[in-house]
Formats: sequence, C-alpha cells, structure tokens
Amino acid sequence: MSRRGEHDVIVVGAGVVGAATALALVREGFDVVLVEARPAPPWNAADDVDARVVALAPDAVALLDELGVWKPITQVRACAYSRMRVWDALAPGELAFAAEDRGESALGWIVENRLLQHALWQALANASETGGSLQLRVPGEVAGIENSENNAVVSLADGSSLRARLLVAADGATSPIRGLLDIGVREHDYGQRAIVAHVGTERSHESTAWQRFQPGGPLAFLPLGDGRCSIVWSLQADEAERVLALDDAAFCAELGCALDFRLGNITSTTRRLAFPLRMRLAERYVAGRSLLIGDAAHAVHPLAGQGLNLGLRDVHNLRGQLRRAKARGIDPGAAQVLRRYERERRSENTLAANSFTLIERCFNSESIAVAGLRGLALAVADKVTPLKRVLMDAAAGRL
Ligand SMILES: Cc1cc2nc3c(=O)[nH]c(=O)nc-3n(C[C@H](O)[C@H](O)[C@H](O)COP(=O)(O)OP(=O)(O)OC[C@H]3O[C@@H](n4cnc5c(N)ncnc54)[C@H](O)[C@@H]3O)c2cc1C
Repeated sequence: MSRRGEHDVIVVGAGVVGAATALALVREGFDVVLVEARPAPPWNAADDVDARVVALAPDAVALLDELGVWKPITQVRACAYSRMRVWDALAPGELAFAAEDRGESALGWIVENRLLQHALWQALANASETGGSLQLRVPGEVAGIENSENNAVVSLADGSSLRARLLVAADGATSPIRGLLDIGVREHDYGQRAIVAHVGTERSHESTAWQRFQPGGPLAFLPLGDGRCSIVWSLQADEAERVLALDDAAFCAELGCALDFRLGNITSTTRRLAFPLRMRLAERYVAGRSLLIGDAAHAVHPLAGQGLNLGLRDVHNLRGQLRRAKARGIDPGAAQVLRRYERERRSENTLAANSFTLIERCFNSESIAVAGLRGLALAVADKVTPLKRVLMDAAAGRL
C-alpha cells in the first residue's frame, strides 16, 4: 500500500473468477485487496463430489496451471474427457469430437466448483510470497463506490473504506457492484431451469461428454472420475418443477429415456438442485476506474459449458493488459488500459452469449423443417473437417 493508503487493485468477489484475478495480479507484483462477503467454502476430500461441477477448457486449465493451482486440483480429483457426442432428439445426424483428432489427450476436464475455489484460496494464503501483496477482507460487503479521477473508493458495510487505482467487480451474475456503478444489463430469461445431480449409469461413460438436444432444453452427461456422470438437464420451468418432484426411481427412469438409453438405465441419483437460466450481458464493462469481470459482465446459458471458461479468459486478458501497463509505468486504472480490456473481451463474450441463445432457440423448435435442418447441420459439421476443427478450437479457447 502506498503512503496515501492507496492500493493498486481492489477485487470484489472471491468466486473462482475473483480469486483467480486476485492471485494472478498479486503474482504480477500488484498490491491487491480481495473483498468477499462469505467465508471460504468448506472442503473435505472425503466428502462426496460437490453438486456443482464445471467443464474446463484447455486454455482455462493452462491459466490455472500458471497460477500454481492445477496440480493440487488433479492431486485430489479432476476427470479428463476425451470425446464429446452431440445429437438431436428429433432428427438424425450426430456430431462427435475426439481429442485424438487433434493429437491431444483431453478435450477438457470436469472439476468441482468447491475444489477449484478451495485450491485458489489455498494459493491466495501464500500469494504474497510470489511478488505483490494481498489483503483479505472476508467477510466484507461493499456498501458504496465513488470513482474519482485518481482512484476508486469503496465503502464497506462495517463502516471502513478502501482506496485503489482500480476496482475489479467479480461479484457474480446479479452483481451489486454493477448496480452501484450504474451499468445497465441486457437480460433474456430462457424460461428454463437447469437440474443438476450426479447419477450412476448401467454402461461406462467412456470418458465422454454426452449432449442430447430435445424440445424444452439440452441434456448433458459429464463424466466423473468415480464412474458416475454429472448431469445438467435444462427444462422449461413448469416441466422442471414436475421432474424435481419425482421420486428417485421415476426420475432415473425419465432421465435414462431422455438420454435415449445411450448409457443404459440410470441406476442411482444424488439430491437434485435447480438453477434458473437467464442471460445477462452488461452494456459496458468499464465505469471510471472500475471494471466488470466473469459473470458480473456476462452470464450465459450453460449448454456449451463456457460461462466460467469465458470468465477465466477475462482474467487472462486483464492480467496481460496490467502486465503491459506496469512494464510501461502506466497506471493500472488508466482509461486506455481498461478500454482495451473492454474492447477485446466484450466482443468475444457477446458473440459467445448470442451464439448460445441462437443454438438454444434453434434446438428448442419442434418444427419438422427446423429439426431437419438441425440434423443436417450436425451431420455436415461432423463430416467437414475444417468446420469441425473451428468448433473444437472455439470450445478449447483457441480462436
Ligand atoms: C447449471 C450450470 C452449469 C454450468 N456449467 C458450466 C461449465 O460446465 N463450464 C463453465 O465454464 N461454466 C459453467 N457454468 C457457469 C459458471 O458456473 C459461472 O460462469 C461461474 O461460476 C461464475 O463465476 P464468478 O466467479 O464470475 O461468479 P460467482 O461464482 O457467482 O462468484 C461471485 C462471488 O462474489 C461474492 N459477492 C457477491 N456480492 C458481493 C459483495 N457485494 N461484496 C463482496 N462479495 C460479493 C459472492 O459471495 C461470490 O463468492 C455453469 C452454470 C450453471 C448455472
């Protein structure tokens, strides 16, 4: 901290994106304060697999590796998937990806949210040894923000205040900071809820991510290291209510049918959780010396498993902008630095979010003509190698 009590960066929110941002910036030599409303999520490797898992793309894993948290995660548990199969409930045609087509061992990894967050928090505890400095304000809640020409001043609910040259809001999809900064959002309610659970299957998941598009929403089966699958079943809200109310045997029977019995019968299920699905795109990423990152900037449909991957790409980009600024002696909160981050990330995130909405709408239609076109599109994408490569590169964060 400078003599005037000013930090380089305040990060609000220590979810995966906020914690990764703070860690990345401390390692670049910045003086960072991380403010999080809730204490670190409890983690015990002996517990069952966390109900929330994410599919991480290779570029997200590369970033976590650079930050020193990937190895500790794999030492506990992470499941690589080497294949992906996508098909339509109403039309023939199937798209299949295989890591070996690219000479790679995995298309991505399934990791528990709580383990990811735990590994990041562990690394944060030792972060100051790596270059910069870190102050944790947990639990800490932001009550107000003032952006001036020279710094951003954050008042906390306990009456204290913090000052920094840059404020990073990583406070999630409903971001209170976005509201305090008066940044508008474009919202789209999909009218769906995503049901998540871990299920046992009669046949092996073959380290494959399975996705079947059906009217009402997509159903994904993601492989877990213990042989079970984690499902994300997006359904219209009223249908989701009905499915949530089923007893376990009836739920397993309907789920097996919904996946065309590709993995045979469903033999067990954990407790089910449900999440309302809503796209939220911030109209701007920057206000004065503050910027939005992760779900605070863009919350997207989970059908492509890209929400967190996009957030970690924001972290990678911001780290690069601030690294260059530091090397040139430029203030980390300077408008030119923040605008560049906004320009580069907002275009990719908006394109991705709108593409997912388009795919969701297209696959939701029960029209025979649209279904026929979908089947054709899947079959063509599967056969045309350059197109398939582009789709794989996009999912892997290589475009
Ligand atoms: C069903 C489902 C499946 C998904 N699957 C995938 C997937 O396979 N792959 C993928 O990449 N993404 C996936 N996602 C998306 C992914 O979960 C999110 O993009 C990601 O968790 C967002 O992380 P975040 O750190 O930006 O926000 P959050 O995880 O929401 O973290 C925000 C943090 O800010 C804190 N906070 C909030 N307000 C304040 C405040 N005022 N002061 C201090 N702290 C505050 C909160 O306590 C929280 O810790 C999925 C989402 C859903 C719903």
